[in-house]
Amino acid sequence: MEDLTQQAKSVHAQFDEHLDLDVDAIESRLETLVSKYRIPPEEAQRSLIENYREEADLNHDDLDPRSNNHVDVATIDEDEQWIDVRVKVVELWEPRSDAIAQVGLLGDESGRIKFVSFATSDLAELEEDSVYELSNVVTDEYEGRYSIKLNRTTSITEIEEDIEPGNDHDDQTGALVDIQRGSGLVKRCPTDDCTRVLQNGRCSEHGEVDGEFDLRIKGVLDDGTTVQEVIFDCEQTEELTDITLDRAKEIARDKLDTGAVLERMEPDIVGRYFEVTGPKFGRYLLVDEFEQLGALSADEALEQLEVTA
Ligand SMILES: [Zn+2]
Repeated sequence: MEDLTQQAKSVHAQFDEHLDLDVDAIESRLETLVSKYRIPPEEAQRSLIENYREEADLNHDDLDPRSNNHVDVATIDEDEQWIDVRVKVVELWEPRSDAIAQVGLLGDESGRIKFVSFATSDLAELEEDSVYELSNVVTDEYEGRYSIKLNRTTSITEIEEDIEPGNDHDDQTGALVDIQRGSGLVKRCPTDDCTRVLQNGRCSEHGEVDGEFDLRIKGVLDDGTTVQEVIFDCEQTEELTDITLDRAKEIARDKLDTGAVLERMEPDIVGRYFEVTGPKFGRYLLVDEFEQLGALSADEALEQLEVTA
């Protein structure tokens, strides 16, 4: 039970200065709770911590929050996890609704991640370039892209130490072999910070809404050995296809069909070679920069076919 060993180590680290414990003993207590009493590992860990805290006669504030579920942002790959992070505020963005108190980008040595805090949570404001220990934040996932949400129970501690946020950009070269559903002229949900792409005028979260037009290409790059799903945003789609958002709206209006836009774009970009760079969020590489390497010659195309076949 590797996870239990990790948990035991984390518990041990928290009480290192206060109690004479050893990791094996903690692990065996955890194991008893989990296997004999069928208590979920997280809950077992929490109750054990609570137990030791009382035994050591400590307040909650006396415990080092770093050892409790401390996570590097680049390793976040699960929805709805309660975690702690130690991060620098890389950038603050303009919130798109009154419900959002703050939105922006946080970073630690491992990478960067979006964060949101809500007006109702009534938290202290984060400042750009400051470094914080944030305890009790929740992970969130949307289209393979992770973010963290601050909430009422989040504790914010500014710390003196500086952090150089990591760059988790990847690059990928390959032919654009496929364009996925939800590409071309799309409508996004205007609710709060939602921005989900609507399907038949409906947001999966907020139901029927008046969407806002946007352009994007969700495609697959194939270099013969690996495939990578990539997303080009509005500006890049305009550059890629020579069709502006306004022009796309005109085409859709003329043909009474938003799908007409993608039909117009497809022949221009499918089969072309690209080199793209950008951060990877789950399955997707979000294109920051791209270079078009030209279309394939017939020979190259054949070779490509053979490699992928
Ligand atoms: Zn929505």
